[in-house]
Amino acid sequence: MAKLFYRYAAMNSGKSTQLLQIANNYEMMGKTVQLYTAAIDDRFGLGKITSRLNIQRDALTYDDSSDFLAVDYGNTACVLIDEAQFLTPTQVQQLHRLAHTRHVPVICFGLRSDFRGEPFPGAAWLLSLAEDIEEIKTICQCGRKATMHVRRDSSGKRIKEGPQVEIGGDARYHAVCAKSPDRCRSSTHSPARPVRCRSRWHPSPGR
Ligand SMILES: [Zn+2]
Repeated sequence: MAKLFYRYAAMNSGKSTQLLQIANNYEMMGKTVQLYTAAIDDRFGLGKITSRLNIQRDALTYDDSSDFLAVDYGNTACVLIDEAQFLTPTQVQQLHRLAHTRHVPVICFGLRSDFRGEPFPGAAWLLSLAEDIEEIKTICQCGRKATMHVRRDSSGKRIKEGPQVEIGGDARYHAVCAKSPDRCRSSTHSPARPVRCRSRWHPSPGR
């Protein structure tokens, strides 16, 4: 039975990498997938899903006016949606119906909350309607699990107010633990630099 899936995480946790891996798995079996990303997120170019491991693929884009039930999915085996926190509540309902009335699995990847700790409406609806929910884990620089992300200004000071959506300036966002978000910074923006980890917890597949 097809389901609606939500894979959520803080920023820089490898969501796009996982999405592209799943697409590749389907295609290795000779199946067709449809990839979507949010038009508003053009950090790497409009309609690009980009892994921080330097893999990139073209994708269809969606915005607030997109109707996922108006699309002919033909022989599509799976719909994969990146940056799914930008979906509207209506679009999440459409995707839920797509899975259950047309039997096309829909796997969404996105954030759970914004830099203020408030939920994105799309994420809240996904957490409400998805039958299969999984957290993609990543670590804070201090070694604890990162469960939120913060926005910082050019001097490194944490910003707590402002618009929910501010695309670009990725270096200003840091995935951090909940214990000390004002102090901790993520080093995941520099993948070449190993994370110094006094970890009580390590991410591993299947956990
Ligand atoms: Zn921390």
